[in-house]
Amino acid sequence: MKKYNFNAGPSMLPREVIENTAKQILDFNGIGLSLAEISHRSKDFQPVMDEATALIKELLEIPEGYSVLFLGGGASLEFCMVPYNFLRKKAGYLNTGVWAKKAIKEAKRFGEVVEVASSADKNFTYIPKGWTCPTDLDYLHVTSNNTIYGTEIREDLDVPVRLISDMSSDIFSRPVDVSKYDCIYAGAQKNLAMAGVTLVIVKDDVLGHTPREEQGLATMLDFRTHIKKGSMFNTPPVVPIYCALETLRWLKANGGLVAMDKLAKERAEILYNEIDRNKLFRGTVENDARSLMNICFVLNDEYAELQDDFFKFATERGMVGIKGHRDVGGFRASCYNAQTIEGVEALVACMKEYEAKH
Ligand SMILES: *Cc1c(COP(=O)(O)O)cnc(C)c1O
Repeated sequence: MKKYNFNAGPSMLPREVIENTAKQILDFNGIGLSLAEISHRSKDFQPVMDEATALIKELLEIPEGYSVLFLGGGASLEFCMVPYNFLRKKAGYLNTGVWAKKAIKEAKRFGEVVEVASSADKNFTYIPKGWTCPTDLDYLHVTSNNTIYGTEIREDLDVPVRLISDMSSDIFSRPVDVSKYDCIYAGAQKNLAMAGVTLVIVKDDVLGHTPREEQGLATMLDFRTHIKKGSMFNTPPVVPIYCALETLRWLKANGGLVAMDKLAKERAEILYNEIDRNKLFRGTVENDARSLMNICFVLNDEYAELQDDFFKFATERGMVGIKGHRDVGGFRASCYNAQTIEGVEALVACMKEYEAKH
């Protein structure tokens, strides 16, 4: 039976990305050795770094003055590295869910943190609106896509201070105006590659101004270390970086970010339309906050006892990974770049068939 992968992360990658990465693990560029068993400093691997970096700059149209880094530690390490490198006195955070809260927790270790706005009062089912950004902040931190709740800020905000975004679960799904940001970071395993590497895009001239300069920053946590050494200060995660390169090639060959944005809208429309139409289901977040990446829905109250049964029904028809996060319940269909219209239509067919039975 054909499987349709709706996992939230690690998640679906284009089949050719998996196949090409697998081939290079067996024999890298025909040199008779695996990608996993050569030096990251060898002449064979350097071109991988160079091409991946160049493609990221090209696809996101990154202006001059920014560095592209491939780091370890996941997006979670960036929750610490961001305030460590950028927070002088006071930072603002938009509290839109679990990941934002984790970022806030780390930032508080390095300075004053203000929650500029929060949607905690309604279990993060909306994106706060109508707030004003204080002008005395070192930066404002946002989470562009809230993977767990299925809300998304699908625009580049205009704020009077430096802007930093955790784009772990929607990077490369739309064109982004990078010039509005001082730092963008993303764990790879949602929309870029297998787990193990974090993409960081950082504006060079903002570094070096925190009070921590006096004692000197911890080497591995200082963005400048990795900028200076081209992400090779220590051994980078070579296989995930290669996998990212394959995804980036695939992105370019498939029309780049404009095409990804269009596809994301098409997929989401098909699925949200069915959620709104189907008598059994309803969406969990406010309509204007709906994520195009993580589509969350639950059974209507009168059908709530069908939860496990629908899960089983869908699983038997090839749906994988549609169980909602425990904080939300119900179902979550993650539709990252690799998700096909066919996959979304298969899930919709399942929902229709199930409705007809009840
Ligand atoms: C998954 C996720 C993270 C955590 O990523 P790790 O790489 O596991 O540390 C952080 N932020 C968002 C928005 C995520 O979706």
